[in-house]
Amino acid sequence: MSKIPQSPPDDEYKPPVSPAVTNFPSPLIKDRYALSEEEKMIRIAEHFQGIMEVLGLDISNQSLKDTPYRIAKMYVKEIFSGLDEANFPTISFFQEDFQQESKGNIVFLKVGFTSFCEHHFVPMVGFAYIAYIPDKRVIGLSKIHRIVRFFAQRPQIQERLTAQIADSLALLLDTENVAVSINARHYCVMARGIQDEHNHTITNVLRGDFGTKEILRREFLESINRQDLS
Ligand SMILES: [Zn+2]
Repeated sequence: MSKIPQSPPDDEYKPPVSPAVTNFPSPLIKDRYALSEEEKMIRIAEHFQGIMEVLGLDISNQSLKDTPYRIAKMYVKEIFSGLDEANFPTISFFQEDFQQESKGNIVFLKVGFTSFCEHHFVPMVGFAYIAYIPDKRVIGLSKIHRIVRFFAQRPQIQERLTAQIADSLALLLDTENVAVSINARHYCVMARGIQDEHNHTITNVLRGDFGTKEILRREFLESINRQDLS
Protein backbone atom coordinates (compact mmCIF):
# COMPACT_ATOMS: atom_id res chain seq x y z
CA MET A 1 0.00 0.00 0.00
CA SER A 2 2.91 2.33 0.45
CA LYS A 3 3.49 4.23 -2.73
CA ILE A 4 6.72 5.79 -3.90
CA PRO A 5 6.39 9.59 -3.96
CA GLN A 6 5.93 10.76 -7.53
CA SER A 7 7.75 13.63 -9.19
CA PRO A 8 5.63 15.96 -11.32
CA PRO A 9 5.43 14.97 -14.99
CA ASP A 10 7.75 17.78 -16.17
CA ASP A 11 10.50 16.44 -13.96
CA GLU A 12 12.74 13.67 -15.21
CA TYR A 13 14.42 12.88 -11.93
CA LYS A 14 13.17 10.20 -9.61
CA PRO A 15 15.33 8.83 -6.81
CA PRO A 16 16.21 5.13 -7.27
CA VAL A 17 14.42 4.26 -4.01
CA SER A 18 11.73 6.04 -2.03
CA PRO A 19 13.19 8.91 0.07
CA ALA A 20 10.68 7.91 2.75
CA VAL A 21 12.68 4.72 3.32
CA THR A 22 16.16 5.47 4.64
CA ASN A 23 19.14 3.36 5.64
CA PHE A 24 18.19 4.17 9.24
CA PRO A 25 14.74 2.60 9.43
CA SER A 26 12.30 3.04 12.26
CA PRO A 27 11.55 -0.25 14.01
CA LEU A 28 8.36 -1.23 12.19
CA ILE A 29 6.62 -4.54 11.61
CA LYS A 30 6.29 -5.79 8.04
CA ASP A 31 2.49 -5.89 7.73
CA ARG A 32 1.94 -2.48 9.23
CA TYR A 33 -0.48 -1.40 6.52
CA ALA A 34 -2.85 -4.31 7.08
CA LEU A 35 -5.33 -2.00 8.84
CA SER A 36 -7.04 1.00 7.26
CA GLU A 37 -6.69 4.39 8.97
CA GLU A 38 -10.23 4.11 10.32
CA GLU A 39 -9.57 0.60 11.69
CA LYS A 40 -6.39 1.83 13.36
CA MET A 41 -8.25 4.70 15.02
CA ILE A 42 -11.02 2.44 16.34
CA ARG A 43 -8.53 -0.01 17.83
CA ILE A 44 -6.30 2.69 19.35
CA ALA A 45 -9.37 4.37 20.89
CA GLU A 46 -10.40 1.04 22.47
CA HIS A 47 -6.93 0.52 23.90
CA PHE A 48 -6.62 4.08 25.15
CA GLN A 49 -9.99 3.86 26.83
CA GLY A 50 -8.63 0.76 28.60
CA ILE A 51 -5.62 2.73 29.85
CA MET A 52 -7.87 5.49 31.15
CA GLU A 53 -10.13 3.00 32.92
CA VAL A 54 -7.17 1.23 34.53
CA LEU A 55 -6.06 4.64 35.82
CA GLY A 56 -9.48 4.96 37.42
CA LEU A 57 -10.82 7.73 35.20
CA ASP A 58 -14.58 7.95 34.65
CA ILE A 59 -14.84 7.52 30.90
CA SER A 60 -18.52 8.54 30.97
CA ASN A 61 -17.54 12.02 32.21
CA GLN A 62 -18.49 14.70 29.72
CA SER A 63 -14.93 16.01 29.54
CA LEU A 64 -13.33 12.59 29.05
CA LYS A 65 -15.76 10.67 26.89
CA ASP A 66 -14.30 11.76 23.54
CA THR A 67 -10.66 11.56 24.61
CA PRO A 68 -9.91 7.98 23.43
CA TYR A 69 -11.01 8.62 19.85
CA ARG A 70 -9.50 12.12 19.87
CA ILE A 71 -6.12 10.64 20.79
CA ALA A 72 -6.49 7.86 18.23
CA LYS A 73 -7.20 10.40 15.49
CA MET A 74 -4.27 12.57 16.57
CA TYR A 75 -1.92 9.56 16.50
CA VAL A 76 -2.94 8.28 13.08
CA LYS A 77 -3.68 11.52 11.21
CA GLU A 78 -1.18 13.89 12.81
CA ILE A 79 1.63 13.17 15.22
CA PHE A 80 2.43 9.64 13.95
CA SER A 81 1.37 10.11 10.33
CA GLY A 82 5.03 9.82 9.28
CA LEU A 83 4.88 6.07 9.97
CA ASP A 84 2.98 5.72 6.70
CA GLU A 85 5.44 6.14 3.82
CA ALA A 86 2.61 7.22 1.54
CA ASN A 87 2.52 10.48 3.52
CA PHE A 88 6.01 11.51 2.36
CA PRO A 89 5.69 14.96 0.76
CA THR A 90 5.62 15.25 -2.99
CA ILE A 91 8.90 16.77 -4.12
CA SER A 92 9.44 18.84 -7.23
CA PHE A 93 12.84 20.02 -8.40
CA PHE A 94 13.86 23.39 -9.74
CA GLN A 95 14.76 23.84 -13.37
CA GLU A 96 18.34 23.46 -14.52
CA ASP A 97 19.10 27.19 -15.04
CA PHE A 98 18.16 27.89 -11.43
CA GLN A 99 20.36 25.00 -10.35
CA GLN A 100 23.32 26.51 -12.16
CA GLU A 101 22.90 29.81 -10.28
CA SER A 102 22.79 28.14 -6.90
CA LYS A 103 25.64 25.75 -7.59
CA GLY A 104 28.39 25.96 -4.96
CA ASN A 105 26.43 28.17 -2.54
CA ILE A 106 25.74 26.42 0.70
CA VAL A 107 22.06 26.39 1.58
CA PHE A 108 21.36 26.80 5.30
CA LEU A 109 18.02 26.25 6.93
CA LYS A 110 16.56 26.25 10.44
CA VAL A 111 13.41 24.19 10.85
CA GLY A 112 11.36 23.97 14.03
CA PHE A 113 9.77 20.61 14.78
CA THR A 114 7.88 18.60 17.36
CA SER A 115 8.49 14.88 17.55
CA PHE A 116 7.74 12.22 20.16
CA CYS A 117 10.21 10.20 22.18
CA GLU A 118 9.57 6.53 21.49
CA HIS A 119 10.61 5.53 25.00
CA HIS A 120 7.99 7.65 26.77
CA PHE A 121 5.60 8.89 24.03
CA VAL A 122 5.97 12.50 25.14
CA PRO A 123 7.17 15.40 22.96
CA MET A 124 10.68 16.35 22.05
CA VAL A 125 10.74 19.84 20.66
CA GLY A 126 13.50 21.68 18.91
CA PHE A 127 15.18 22.85 15.75
CA ALA A 128 16.81 21.02 12.90
CA TYR A 129 19.66 22.98 11.31
CA ILE A 130 20.24 21.80 7.79
CA ALA A 131 22.88 22.60 5.22
CA TYR A 132 23.61 21.24 1.80
CA ILE A 133 25.75 22.15 -1.15
CA PRO A 134 23.56 22.15 -4.27
CA ASP A 135 25.00 20.04 -7.02
CA LYS A 136 22.73 18.21 -9.43
CA ARG A 137 19.42 19.01 -7.75
CA VAL A 138 17.76 21.85 -5.88
CA ILE A 139 14.42 21.59 -4.06
CA GLY A 140 12.25 24.28 -2.52
CA LEU A 141 13.02 25.22 1.07
CA SER A 142 9.45 24.52 2.15
CA LYS A 143 9.91 20.94 0.95
CA ILE A 144 12.77 20.53 3.41
CA HIS A 145 10.43 21.72 6.18
CA ARG A 146 7.92 19.08 5.10
CA ILE A 147 10.56 16.34 5.04
CA VAL A 148 11.66 17.23 8.59
CA ARG A 149 8.03 17.15 9.71
CA PHE A 150 7.44 13.80 7.99
CA PHE A 151 10.25 12.07 9.90
CA ALA A 152 9.43 13.95 13.12
CA GLN A 153 5.86 12.64 13.02
CA ARG A 154 6.86 9.24 14.30
CA PRO A 155 7.78 7.87 17.69
CA GLN A 156 11.49 8.70 17.49
CA ILE A 157 14.88 8.81 19.07
CA GLN A 158 16.77 11.99 18.25
CA GLU A 159 19.79 10.23 16.72
CA ARG A 160 17.61 8.32 14.26
CA LEU A 161 15.57 11.40 13.36
CA THR A 162 18.80 13.26 12.52
CA ALA A 163 20.11 10.37 10.41
CA GLN A 164 16.81 9.84 8.58
CA ILE A 165 16.54 13.50 7.57
CA ALA A 166 20.15 13.56 6.34
CA ASP A 167 19.77 10.29 4.44
CA SER A 168 16.53 11.29 2.76
CA LEU A 169 17.95 14.68 1.71
CA ALA A 170 21.15 13.10 0.37
CA LEU A 171 19.05 10.81 -1.78
CA LEU A 172 16.68 13.51 -3.03
CA LEU A 173 19.36 16.13 -3.63
CA ASP A 174 21.62 13.51 -5.19
CA THR A 175 24.64 14.63 -3.14
CA GLU A 176 26.53 13.42 -0.07
CA ASN A 177 27.25 17.00 1.00
CA VAL A 178 24.47 17.25 3.57
CA ALA A 179 24.67 18.28 7.23
CA VAL A 180 21.94 18.03 9.84
CA SER A 181 22.19 19.17 13.46
CA ILE A 182 19.28 18.80 15.84
CA ASN A 183 18.94 20.61 19.13
CA ALA A 184 15.93 19.41 21.09
CA ARG A 185 14.38 19.47 24.54
CA HIS A 186 12.91 16.21 25.72
CA TYR A 187 9.75 16.37 27.81
CA CYS A 188 10.57 12.97 29.31
CA VAL A 189 13.59 14.65 30.89
CA MET A 190 11.63 17.78 31.86
CA ALA A 191 8.44 16.27 33.24
CA ARG A 192 9.75 13.09 34.87
CA GLY A 193 12.99 11.43 35.89
CA ILE A 194 15.50 14.13 36.77
CA GLN A 195 12.99 16.90 35.81
CA ASP A 196 15.58 19.11 34.18
CA GLU A 197 13.69 22.03 32.64
CA HIS A 198 16.66 23.23 30.66
CA ASN A 199 17.86 20.04 29.06
CA HIS A 200 19.13 20.27 25.49
CA THR A 201 20.34 17.35 23.43
CA ILE A 202 22.37 17.96 20.31
CA THR A 203 22.92 15.38 17.58
CA ASN A 204 24.89 15.96 14.39
CA VAL A 205 25.16 14.09 11.12
CA LEU A 206 27.86 15.57 8.88
CA ARG A 207 28.10 13.80 5.54
CA GLY A 208 30.40 14.20 2.57
CA ASP A 209 32.53 17.35 2.62
CA PHE A 210 30.84 18.55 5.83
CA GLY A 211 32.40 15.56 7.56
CA THR A 212 35.84 15.72 5.97
CA LYS A 213 36.55 19.43 5.33
CA GLU A 214 37.23 21.38 8.50
CA ILE A 215 36.32 24.73 6.91
CA LEU A 216 32.86 23.50 5.90
CA ARG A 217 32.21 21.87 9.23
CA ARG A 218 33.13 25.13 10.97
CA GLU A 219 31.00 27.22 8.61
CA PHE A 220 28.01 24.98 9.32
CA LEU A 221 28.42 25.05 13.09
CA GLU A 222 29.01 28.82 13.09
CA SER A 223 25.89 29.39 11.02
CA ILE A 224 23.92 27.51 13.69
CA ASN A 225 25.22 29.91 16.33
CA ARG A 226 24.30 32.90 14.16
CA GLN A 227 20.81 31.57 13.49
CA ASP A 228 20.34 30.84 17.17
CA LEU A 229 20.97 34.50 17.98
CA SER A 230 18.46 35.76 15.45
ZN1 LIG B 1 11.96 9.72 26.56
